[in-house]
Amino acid sequence: NRHEPAQTGHIFRSKLPDIPIPASLPLTKYIFQNLADHSDRPCLITVTGQRLSYLEFHTCCKETASGLFKLGIRRGDIIMLLLHNSPEFVISFIGAAMIGAVSTTCNPFFTPGEVSKQIKACNPKIVITLSQYVVKLKDHCPGNGVAGKLTERSFSGESKTQESELGSAEKHINQSQLSRKPLSSELENQRPDSQLADKPPVLEISWDELPVKPQIQATHIRVITVDDPPEGCLHFSVLSDSGESDPPEITIDPEDPIALPFSSGTTGLPKGVVLTHKTIVSSIAQQVDGENPNLYIHSQDVVLCVLPLFHIYSLNSVLLCSLRVGAEVVLMPKFEIGTMLEVVEKYRVSVAPVVPPLVLALAKNGAVEKFDLRSIRIVLSGAAPLGKDLQEALRTRVPQAVFGQGYGMTEAGPVLSMCLAFAKKPFPSKPGSCGTVVRNSELKVIDTESGASLSYNQPGEICIRGPQVMKGYLNDSEATAATIDSEGWLHTGDIGYVDEEEEVFIVDRVKELIKYKGFQVPPAEIEALLLSHPSIADAAVVPQKDEAAGEVPVAFIVRSNGFELTEEVVKDFIAKQVVFYKRLQKVYFIHVIPKSPSGKILRKELKAKLA
Ligand code: ATP
Ligand code: MG
Repeated sequence: NRHEPAQTGHIFRSKLPDIPIPASLPLTKYIFQNLADHSDRPCLITVTGQRLSYLEFHTCCKETASGLFKLGIRRGDIIMLLLHNSPEFVISFIGAAMIGAVSTTCNPFFTPGEVSKQIKACNPKIVITLSQYVVKLKDHCPGNGVAGKLTERSFSGESKTQESELGSAEKHINQSQLSRKPLSSELENQRPDSQLADKPPVLEISWDELPVKPQIQATHIRVITVDDPPEGCLHFSVLSDSGESDPPEITIDPEDPIALPFSSGTTGLPKGVVLTHKTIVSSIAQQVDGENPNLYIHSQDVVLCVLPLFHIYSLNSVLLCSLRVGAEVVLMPKFEIGTMLEVVEKYRVSVAPVVPPLVLALAKNGAVEKFDLRSIRIVLSGAAPLGKDLQEALRTRVPQAVFGQGYGMTEAGPVLSMCLAFAKKPFPSKPGSCGTVVRNSELKVIDTESGASLSYNQPGEICIRGPQVMKGYLNDSEATAATIDSEGWLHTGDIGYVDEEEEVFIVDRVKELIKYKGFQVPPAEIEALLLSHPSIADAAVVPQKDEAAGEVPVAFIVRSNGFELTEEVVKDFIAKQVVFYKRLQKVYFIHVIPKSPSGKILRKELKAKLA
């Protein structure tokens, strides 16, 4: 009997059969494997209407790969992308991968200190960014000609409006396509190791030998901007107009790192995660390959890319999955609801990957009614908990679409489970479920105390094993060993269960459960209830220290415009629906709930407010 509750050693699998995964192919070969089938189809499109076909995109990537190689970037070297979603982001990532280089992606809104931490952690050779962010790098460019010249006055600051950002995104494409050739002297000045560029490629560097020394300051970081370069920086055209259409053939091992994303930093500092060609190819294949792909997207689809590409969700499930199947990707530099709705209507977006704060905006914002969203056939939410009621509220706004969730974690490559209602031959799926474990992979749920694996409907810590799981944390074998056990199971730190239909439900993170006299209160559950109240625009629940109970749940609430709402009303609303220990002990009204760009509530900021 598979419902036997005490069954141990239970392993959950996909309902889809395993497939052959071409895990020995380097990512770029895999991505472009079926290029001939869709080379004339549109590949990337920007909000301002700049389009690149697949063939043009492929050519741009190869030129940029050559440009990176000419600048001295070699297999195993790291480049940092400090960019919003833009064609240059995508082209740099793929171009770097073609020559075996590794991209570390960084949030351009990070403070100089945060950017600096990531730079110190991975020591990139070049940083590709916008001129307005160069100031964030000034600690890292001493002594190489870029240094002293970088001062605040060179930059226009960060107060750009949406229009000017979009306008400048447009300008970048034009500039790189206009073949603005750099002066060779300008180039030489920026290349302290310019002789290096002419040496043959170094083919046998393993990750362990990479020059990743956290304490040593990088002195040779070269800064490239995709818009007008400030003094001392190079323009992106040094890469994109390298004058060479074919990069050197580099032998790439499937175990070579390709991406170095950082986790969101929800529970502490963001952690550098080493993903290889093999892990990324496996993850993409698990989602979109096979006769019955789990996430069926195809070359006629238009996929909305509004989630930031510096986060692995967007990089993998939105961008790379789309490139594999030949779909068109609409790049939006940032989220703004009006622009997003316009883009959906104008480009007839058919696949909309979102995060819960975006679902909240779509479900609660009246502007949605004014737009034609009938082209959307898939709404995929992931990265943070999404309550049933909110999912249902959005469903009424896009009734024709299939709505489901994926569950991901940077370290898990990132997708652990994906809604099977998105499959080519779909399965039914329940609201609130995070889908079924991806194919070619194993999932188990363990008792947090005993470590025994649990059966159906029993909550415990979710663990995953498969070819998509990260190689490890960057330069932190201790943290890696604490996360991936000797049998290869990655321990997620998330509490969840699997129901009889093999659907995964996330309860909350182990670390975020509030402990009231030993009883567990999952904040995500209370937040979902709060959001179902018409006068509540947004909500977060955190623990507050309490002498008698240890911790008690308290809520931060954002009122909907024009609604009166008292603490008592909120407390009663919850008290009627939950067992005594989940009742809210206190309610604080605030203007906005702090969230990460990947859609997570920043509870540590709220806890700090309480302290
Ligand atoms: P850090 O590890 O740096 O503290 P983080 O865990 O938020 O930050 P990510 O790798 O971006 O960094 O996020 C992974 C986490 O996001 C998962 O462990 C899980 O808690 C949460 N998550 C992802 N998808 C879902 C989902 N569909 N439902 C609920 N939670 C989700
Ligand atoms: Mg995490």
